Amino acid sequence: MAEKKICEQCHDEKDIDLFRKVTNQYTGVHPMSICKECYNRNNEDRKRRQEEEWQQNAEERKQRQAYQQQSEEREAVRAARKAAWEAEERRLPESNPTEVTYHAWIYAIRKQGSYPEPTERSGKWLIFLSAQSIDRYWAKIKEAVEQGQLGEQTKVSTRSPASMPPEVRRKKEERGDTRFVVCVYTYDYADEADVMRVRQVLKELGIQREIIYKADADTRAGSYGADYTPKYRA
Ligand SMILES: [Zn+2]
Repeated sequence: MAEKKICEQCHDEKDIDLFRKVTNQYTGVHPMSICKECYNRNNEDRKRRQEEEWQQNAEERKQRQAYQQQSEEREAVRAARKAAWEAEERRLPESNPTEVTYHAWIYAIRKQGSYPEPTERSGKWLIFLSAQSIDRYWAKIKEAVEQGQLGEQTKVSTRSPASMPPEVRRKKEERGDTRFVVCVYTYDYADEADVMRVRQVLKELGIQREIIYKADADTRAGSYGADYTPKYRA
C-alpha cells in the first residue's frame, strides 16, 4: 500500500511517489508539494500562455508594420500630389482651363498699353461656357487682354472645385451645370463707355449671346445666382 498525501494544489489525496516539489507560484519562495497531474497541467498552461503571448506579439508587430506601410503610402500620395500641384503651377499661365485640376483660376494680365486702376465700382463681364468651348474662347480672351484690347485682367475657372464657395458649387452641380466662367474685369462700372467698349471687343471675339456684368462688391458680399442685380446685360 503506497503512502498517500494531499496535493497542495487540487487537494486530492494521491500516491506520494507521484508528487513534485515546485516553487510556490504565488509567493515565489515557499516550495509547494503538488501531484503529477497538477504539475503537468501547470506546465501545459504555462506553455499555452507563452504561445498566446508570442502570437499576440507577432500580431502587434504585423499591425505596426501595416501601419508603417500605410503611413509611407500616404506620404507618397501626398508627395505625388504636391509634385503634380507644382508642375501644374509652372505651366498654369499657358494651360487650358479644362486641363487644370489643382488651381481654381488661371489669370492673364495686360502686357501692352495702360488702363485705369480699379475703383470701388470695379466689376466684370461674366462669360459662362461649356467644357467643349471654354479652351478656345479662353485662348482668345487671354490674348486680347494681354495685347491691351480689354481691361487690366481676366481670369477663368478650372476643373478645381475651389473657384466658388462650396454651397454655390453644390447648387451648381445639382443643376447639372458644368460650365466654366471667364471674368473680364473693368475698372469702373460707372464708366459705361469703357464697359461697353470691352463688351464690343468680346462680341468681336465671338461672344454674341447676352452676358451679364457683375460688380466686384456683389461678389465680395457673397451674392451669387439670383442674389444680385447685374449692372449691365448686353
Ligand atoms: Zn493535484
